[in-house]
Formats: sequence, structure tokens, C-alpha cells
Amino acid sequence: MIIAIDGPGASGKGTLARRLAAAFDLAYLDTGLIYRAVAAKVLEAGAIPTDAEAACAAARALAFADLARPGLRQENIGQAASIIAAIPSVRAALLDLQRRFAAHPPEGKKGAILDGRDIGTVVCPQADIKLFVSASPEARAGRRHKELLDRGEPSIYARVVQEMEARDARDSARDAAPLKSAPGAFVLDTSEMDADAAFEAAKRIVSAYRPPSPAHGPQGEG
Ligand code: C5P
Repeated sequence: MIIAIDGPGASGKGTLARRLAAAFDLAYLDTGLIYRAVAAKVLEAGAIPTDAEAACAAARALAFADLARPGLRQENIGQAASIIAAIPSVRAALLDLQRRFAAHPPEGKKGAILDGRDIGTVVCPQADIKLFVSASPEARAGRRHKELLDRGEPSIYARVVQEMEARDARDSARDAAPLKSAPGAFVLDTSEMDADAAFEAAKRIVSAYRPPSPAHGPQGEG
């Protein structure tokens, strides 16, 4: 089973994906971390995020072990990641890695959950279940602000709102794989939900899923 979860930052999709993966014994890939790891490499090399050549080289050299690097969740890395993520050659270089994870989940798992911005639209358009997790900008900014403070990082609410707007605009307006709900996706607005309520709602959707019967598939039609 492949579950594709997309949505903007701080919509709650990461927590939801992790909990669904544990509940249904699926492998989990946070694809945002992939773009963040590429951004970290580019910045470390002294290049700027708009440098397509440097970003593409970093994307091609990326290994799964890079996703465990500390500091990837920092806001400056998130901003750089969203600039890098708009470069089509970078996205192309990262596609195979993500699709391989979905097709061959690690640790003998029977399926995978991937979350990001383009999982249902580009990476896994054939996913069994697609979820688009959204929330109002106010709810998301409030969550991000709290998350930063909980991590002991300085945070000014007005700045969080500004940075979130900038990232949303960049992720949604870019030509290459913009953030949008995939056809057939279940839309989950978590503005008024806590993590438990969002999890219960998503669990109901996943539990209700039945694979299409072979009789209705392409082989059964002839
Ligand atoms: O989800 P997260 O905030 O960690 O993602 C960081 C950035 O990576 C996003 O703002 C987005 O620009 C990019 N991204 C993407 N496609 C994905 C996942 C993340 O473009 N599938």
C-alpha cells in the first residue's frame, strides 16, 4: 500500500504521516527532509540556493544517510530548501530516490507513506490513498511558532507568519510540481483539529480503503 500525503508547512501532515505509518506498519519518508538536506549541502559548500548547478550536484550526490543530519529543521534551511525545490533539474534528480522508496519500502515493510508537496501529483500519482492536509494560515503559523519555542529556538510570531507566507507563495506558484491537491485526494482541514482528531479522521479513511478488485482492473476487462 502506498499513501501519499501532501500539504503546506505546519499543516500537521508530518505528525499524521508518522502516526499512520506506525499504526499500519508502513515505512515513512519525509520528503521535505530530502530538499532540506540538499539545501544544507549547498549552503555548506558556500553556494547560494538559486545556484542550479550546485543544487543539482548536491541532489545527485544525496544519500538516505544525509537525511539524519542535525539541524535540517531550522527555518533558514526550510527557506533555502523551498528556493532549491523550484529548480526543475533538482526535482528530477530526486525523483528516483523517492519512487524507489515507495516501490521497495525498507525493513521488509509492506508499503510506504510519503509526505511532501507533490507526492500525489508527481512522485506517486498511482498511490492507493492520497490525502491533502491543509489548515488556515493562522492555525499553521500558531503551530510553527509553538514548535520553535518548544525547541528552545527564538521565535517572533509576526516573523513566522511572514516566512510562512513567503514559503507558501513560492511552493504554490512555482512551475515545477507546485503544491496542490492531487485528483482524487481526500482533503483534511486540520484548522480546528488537534493531532489526535486528525489521526482518527485519517485512520478512518485508510481503514476503509479496499484495493480495486482484479475483475475491474485492466486484466479483467478483456
Ligand atoms: O515539508 P518541509 O517544510 O520540510 O519542506 C521544505 C521545503 O521543501 C518546502 O517548503 C518545499 O519547497 C520543498 N518540498 C518540495 N516537495 C516535496 C517536499 C518538500 O518541494 N515533496
